[in-house]
Amino acid sequence: MRKVAKQVSNLPAVVLRLEAWFPRVLRNLPWRKQRTPWRVFVSEVMLQQTQASRVAEKFPAFVRRFPNPKQLARAAELDVLALWQGLGYYRRAKNLHAAAKIITTRCRGRVPRTSLELQSLPGIGRYSAGAIASIAFDKAEPIVDGNVARVLSRLADRRESAKGKVADEWLWSAAEKCVRAAKSPAVLNEALMELGATVCVPKNPRCAQCPVRACCAAFKANSQEFVPLKQSAAPKRMVVHHALVEIRGSSMGMITRPAKGLWAGMLSPPVVESVQVLRPAKLLAEMREVKSIEQFRGEFTFLTTHRAIRFRVYVAKFHSQAKLRWISLKKLDHYAVSNAVLKIAKTAMEK
Ligand code: SF4
Repeated sequence: MRKVAKQVSNLPAVVLRLEAWFPRVLRNLPWRKQRTPWRVFVSEVMLQQTQASRVAEKFPAFVRRFPNPKQLARAAELDVLALWQGLGYYRRAKNLHAAAKIITTRCRGRVPRTSLELQSLPGIGRYSAGAIASIAFDKAEPIVDGNVARVLSRLADRRESAKGKVADEWLWSAAEKCVRAAKSPAVLNEALMELGATVCVPKNPRCAQCPVRACCAAFKANSQEFVPLKQSAAPKRMVVHHALVEIRGSSMGMITRPAKGLWAGMLSPPVVESVQVLRPAKLLAEMREVKSIEQFRGEFTFLTTHRAIRFRVYVAKFHSQAKLRWISLKKLDHYAVSNAVLKIAKTAMEK
């Protein structure tokens, strides 16, 4: 017998309650003030992989410096990356820069209004397009991110993983039904995200405070703790980065990383990458610009989406002809550097 997919029951009541609840509880976040399409666009790109509290710190300075697509389109990439510092996943900053150029030249400086047009811009997938179209223009476009997926799965008590093609189809269809039933797509979509971020959290959901508890199938079945089912994450690739740091006075010797790959085009001390720890003699052979390795200063592990990077920090002396840029340690966070580089500098300076 064919299995019938579970559905969110009593959908009109769910939507009505969420729309009434959200204006009462919305958090005071900077992108919710002076809502222009451009500010919504920037905030959604920042929020793709960074927590709201971190974005709240960085968003005001970014939009002050780049109040419209034209200003961002004109900026040098390193200036954009410098203002992105601390948000991580720098590819997003490059895509945002490229998107601003396209909006300026092809869309007369106006953020596109439809999900389809938005998805033609670099770095804008179905989720971000739906969020921008609904929040900035009140279009009935669905959104599904991790938070929304969890809420919808629990409302329907869907005891399966929220990952994969079948789950995707179910989630997008459920989200679409919700947004089409809404009075305001903007309010409904934000309410779904907010509920997942603040109430229907992965562990110990706060069902007692939930506005849709009466309609929630997982709550009724007491299954909310294990819905949706978890999928074990793919193991991360282990690599070792040997950072070779020379500090002269109050400045650190830096290079620009290659134009492709991890932290592309950003500043970093020279690094020898390998799959295992290398001896100093091997490091010297690998990097001819280094005259001597003075001391091993310590190590730390840094996680990226696909890698676990073991950073080993060495104090080194470079030959005078080595092509290094000398960057003030005090102003390091004004430049396009990753959080890993900030940690390398801290490790190198620790006595
Ligand atoms: S009742 Fe609990 S599990 Fe259901 S949507 Fe609300 S917070 Fe999530």
